[in-house]
Amino acid sequence: MKALVYHGPGNKAWEDVPEPVLQDPTDAIVRVETTTICGTDLHILKGDVPAVTDGRILGHEGVGVVTEVGPECRNVAVGDRVIISCISKCMSCDYCKRGLTSHCQTLGGIGWIFGHLIDGTQAELVRVPYADNGLIPLPDGVSAEQGAMLSDILPTGFEIGVLNGAVTEGDVVAVIGAGPVGLAAIMTAASRGAAKVIAVDGNKFRLEESRDFGATDTVDVGAGGDVVEELKKLSRDGLGVDVAIEAVGIPATFATALDSVRPGGHVANVGVHGEPVTLPIERDWINNLTITTGLVNATTAPELLGEITAGRIDPGKFVTHRFTFDQMLEAYDTFARAADEHAIKVIISRES
Ligand code: NAD
Ligand code: ZN
Repeated sequence: MKALVYHGPGNKAWEDVPEPVLQDPTDAIVRVETTTICGTDLHILKGDVPAVTDGRILGHEGVGVVTEVGPECRNVAVGDRVIISCISKCMSCDYCKRGLTSHCQTLGGIGWIFGHLIDGTQAELVRVPYADNGLIPLPDGVSAEQGAMLSDILPTGFEIGVLNGAVTEGDVVAVIGAGPVGLAAIMTAASRGAAKVIAVDGNKFRLEESRDFGATDTVDVGAGGDVVEELKKLSRDGLGVDVAIEAVGIPATFATALDSVRPGGHVANVGVHGEPVTLPIERDWINNLTITTGLVNATTAPELLGEITAGRIDPGKFVTHRFTFDQMLEAYDTFARAADEHAIKVIISRES
C-alpha cells in the first residue's frame, strides 16, 4: 500500500510500505477514505518531536471503513464507517479511567497517538489498537469531511480551550490565534452560548473567516492597536474578558491571554510552546486566575458528533482545499503555506 512516511527532519515520501496486520485481539484495520494534515505533522517534519522516528507513517486524523477486526472487538465490525480518533486508548488503566487518555499507560509514556509512536492515517490502511475505544461510528448524514474534523481539531479546541476554560453561557471569550485550533475553539465556544467570541489574529483572511465560525468581534494584531486594551473594551465591565484561550504557542500571546482576563477569569492554553513563558504569579494570584493547559484527550468526539447531527455546528467549514491520495505531497505544500494559500484544513481522499 501507499503511505506518507517520515524519513527524518525535512524528509517525507509517499511510498510503498507493507500493509498493516492485526497484532492484538483488540485491533482493527481501517481502509482510510479521507485524511487531513495537522500543524503537528509539520512540527514532526521539522524534527521538533523527537519521539517520532524514521519510518513512521504520519497522520492522526481520518475517516474510513473497517476491513478486519480482532476476535475481542465488540463495538466495531467489518464494513463499519468510522471516525479514527487521533488517540486510541485501553480504557482500563488508571489514566484512561480518569479521562487522561492521552497518557494511557499501556504503551508507556504518552498514549496511542497515531503518527507518533504508532503508524498513522496518511495511508491506504491503518491498524487501530483498542479499536472499540479508538473508532467512532460515523452516523448517516455526517460527511466524511465533517467526521475527519472530530479526529483531533474540534476536540482540541473544545476540550483544551472551551472546557478547560470553563466557558459558560453569557461569557465574553477571547481566542488568540484563529488557525484551525483557534477556529475550533471559536466554533464550540459560540455553540456553548458565549455572549461574545473575539477572534485575535494578524491574518485578515482568518479574521474574516472567524465570523463564519461564530466570532462576534475581531482584533487585528497587525493594526497597531493595544490588543489587551481592545479586549478589555469588548469585555462586560471593562476589566477583562471572562476566558482567554491561547491558540498560538508563543510567549507573547500567552502574555496577552494573562493580561486580558478579568479577576476570577480563566486562561486556557492550547498552544504548543517551543520555549518557556513568563508567568507573573504574584499578580495572577491576587487576580484569582485559573490557568490550564494540556494535550488533547479526544474523548468528546461523540458529544461533538451530537452537535453536528443536531445542526448546531458544521465542521465542514474547516475544509478549504481538496486533494486525492496521489497528491499527498502537493497537499502538504499547500498546508505548509496555509496563510498565503488561504487554507484552513486540506482534505486528502481516496480517488474512488
Ligand atoms: P496555526 O499555526 O495554523 O495557527 C496559528 C494562528 O495564530 C495563525 O492564524 C497565526 O496567524 C496566528 N498568530 C501568529 N502570531 C500571532 C500573534 N502574535 N497574535 C495573534 N495571532 C497570531 O496553528 P493551529 O494548527 O491552529 O494550532 C494552534 C496551536 O495549537 C499550535 O501551537 C499547535 O501546536 C497547538 N495544538 C495544541 C494541541 C493540544 O493538544 N493542546 C493540539 C493540536 C495543536
Ligand atoms: Zn489506558
